[in-house]
Amino acid sequence: MKFINWVTHPSYDIPLPLKHRFTSSKFSDLFTKLQGLDLINSATLNSPSKANEDELSVGHCINYISRIKSGSISKKEERKLGLTWSPELSNRSFLAVNGTLLTAKLAIENGIACHLAGGTHHAQYNFGSGFCVFNDLAYTSIHLLKRRMVKKILIFDCDVHQGDGTANILADNPNVFTCSIHSRKNFPVIKANSDLDIELEDEIGNKKYQDIIEHTIKRCVNFFQPDLVLYDAGIDVHVNDQLGRLNINDEGCLSRDLFVLSYLKKHSIPVATVIGGGYSKDRIELANRHSIIFRAAHEVYS
Ligand SMILES: [Zn+2]
Repeated sequence: MKFINWVTHPSYDIPLPLKHRFTSSKFSDLFTKLQGLDLINSATLNSPSKANEDELSVGHCINYISRIKSGSISKKEERKLGLTWSPELSNRSFLAVNGTLLTAKLAIENGIACHLAGGTHHAQYNFGSGFCVFNDLAYTSIHLLKRRMVKKILIFDCDVHQGDGTANILADNPNVFTCSIHSRKNFPVIKANSDLDIELEDEIGNKKYQDIIEHTIKRCVNFFQPDLVLYDAGIDVHVNDQLGRLNINDEGCLSRDLFVLSYLKKHSIPVATVIGGGYSKDRIELANRHSIIFRAAHEVYS
């Protein structure tokens, strides 16, 4: 059996009050879940180092980066972010961007790699939003292009919310194609312009959703011919998610991920996956849902 490269870090969890909508332990819960499924192998388990301020400035305003580092963001900025600043939040934010970059590099070498975090797609150039401090997808894309590791990147974002920060930061970058498939009525109220936005109506259900996913990934790959895909496998599309509206169940999420990965494998396009959004008070259930993309990766690539 071939083990897939996973990327994680013991400092990913975010200290938050229990009543907070964001489950603070979800990153370590997911790690424990994958261990339980026997999908983690120490030889293919990787950890990022922290990005420095200079590295982060390719996608974010240096003043904003410094304020996150020092904890000098305002109460208003914290409200927009949806998280209270803490040294742990700052630390994990500088780690997680490099986690996605490391995942992408491992994907380029091995065809697939999966990050046990990432998908912080609401983070904008000079402010955080919707639980997202820094934009790992934009950061990773810009670094890979700068280092000439790839020429064209497709960001295929299936989180239930639009990847508005990614779309804005990369708006003028012709070498990254941003595609967001999201719920029309969900956050953010004012949408950005991705290169391709597919807006879904409430209660769409597995069958229609799957048809749209299949059609859209084919369309993006045929049109743009990427040499790397960053896949945001958000599971807040799930019927039991606190923020989901689409009526997709476990089978629907698994079927989506299996198709996307199989299609990219068939076309020999490397793919780096990130977990994206997922909101539930039931920690076990949430870890189970986030494990779907890892189970799909294991099934397609092992
Ligand atoms: Zn989301």
